[in-house]
Amino acid sequence: LNGFSVQVSSKLRELTYKGMMGILILIDIYNMTYINKILGFSEGDELLKFFANKLKEIFTDSAIISRIGADTFGLYLTFELSHELSAIYFKILNLNELKYYKGVDSISITINAGCALFPRDGHNFIDLYEKADITLTRAKNEGEGVIKFFNEEIEKDVESRWDVINLVKRAFDENLFVLYFQPYYQTDTLKISGLEALVRIIDNDKIYNPGYFIDYIENSPNIRKFEDWVIKEVVEKIKKWNINISVNISGKTFINQDFINKLLEIPEFLRDKITIEITERIFIENPENSISIISMIKKMNNPPRIAMDDFGTGYSSLVYLKDLPVDIIKIDINFIRNMLKDKKSFAIVQTIIELAKRLDKITLAEGVEQKEQLDILKFLGCEMIQGFLLSKPLSADIVESEILKSIQNN
Ligand code: C2E
Ligand code: CA
Ligand code: CA
Repeated sequence: LNGFSVQVSSKLRELTYKGMMGILILIDIYNMTYINKILGFSEGDELLKFFANKLKEIFTDSAIISRIGADTFGLYLTFELSHELSAIYFKILNLNELKYYKGVDSISITINAGCALFPRDGHNFIDLYEKADITLTRAKNEGEGVIKFFNEEIEKDVESRWDVINLVKRAFDENLFVLYFQPYYQTDTLKISGLEALVRIIDNDKIYNPGYFIDYIENSPNIRKFEDWVIKEVVEKIKKWNINISVNISGKTFINQDFINKLLEIPEFLRDKITIEITERIFIENPENSISIISMIKKMNNPPRIAMDDFGTGYSSLVYLKDLPVDIIKIDINFIRNMLKDKKSFAIVQTIIELAKRLDKITLAEGVEQKEQLDILKFLGCEMIQGFLLSKPLSADIVESEILKSIQNN
């Protein structure tokens, strides 16, 4: 516990100056007594090692992870935005899906966790530890798999996400995932240059947008299955419609070597019709990996195009941009939204477009809703635009009945 306390304390001191948040999580393996009984103590130790390694794998380098009791682990993470908290929550929740294999037999691991937040629940390690510990006890009392937050408001918020979990589970079981397609256009001619595939869950006429569920999927073990499905659908549509389609790919999938094989499986003559959209964040969090994956992609015959999504939201993107062989830069919707009323946003948009030109990259502005935005972007030399002004995301039926026709007429 001592080493953990020292490390966490030093992180917390840094945070105070940066205005960021931290979370201290105590994780306890619920069924350890049972596991020891079944496997014996030495195999039980192996399972603990397996669990510790999984924690390291699931949480990034910035996490502080330590075994602080017989079957209790301390985990500390820094985060910036409250939606990251739900991602963290889902990762912990998914620990309940872990299986430890011994030969062909497997044993399921279940956990309890107690969480305390900095600065909300405490300003130093001792405060946070005490609160996480009380919370862990409450979690254990409620039973297997339960995760609790010290603060009940936060807990309500994260718990309401159970609905999300159930919806996603049903979406997989009952094939409720549907792709919508939002066109993007050449700014000067307003000709359609391609479509971006955006997932929905459609349940009895109710349409759920990805903002509601994608965080959960991206942090669940099903992300592979989900993205395989997206790619398969998109390849089918490219074949059928003979049009460029972009897909959004999560960081986890992207930095995994398997992804390269997935792309290699796509028929060569279709491959360059795909654009892979990866958020800027992924590049910043894994610069070396991203560069090596992109270089591998670019070595393929007829390689897919790569777009950097939500550009401008990260911090050090400009530094990496010159080394990244990406083809398209998608300027984040927030800059486009604010550029008419806010000089700074305007300056950022202008700078991104100019820089991209010099680096030989195409710029695409997201979220164009007004004619004035379109005019300015055209004036600034932004090559492509996308947004509600020209089209919302459309169902495949509408694409077939309206969009494809308009392309043929062009
Ligand atoms: P994104 O990749 O930045 O997608 C753009 C989002 O902006 C879409 O929301 C789109 O409907 C919305 N949008 C487009 N034009 C306008 C506009 O003019 N005004 C406004 N207010 N919004 C506009 P959507 O479809 O809800 O998707 C949200 C996010 O979910 C996407 O952001 C993407 O990060 C993620 N996502 C969507 N589909 C997938 C998928 O298949 N896989 C993964 N991993 N993520 C996906
Ligand atoms: Ca996108
Ligand atoms: Ca975007």
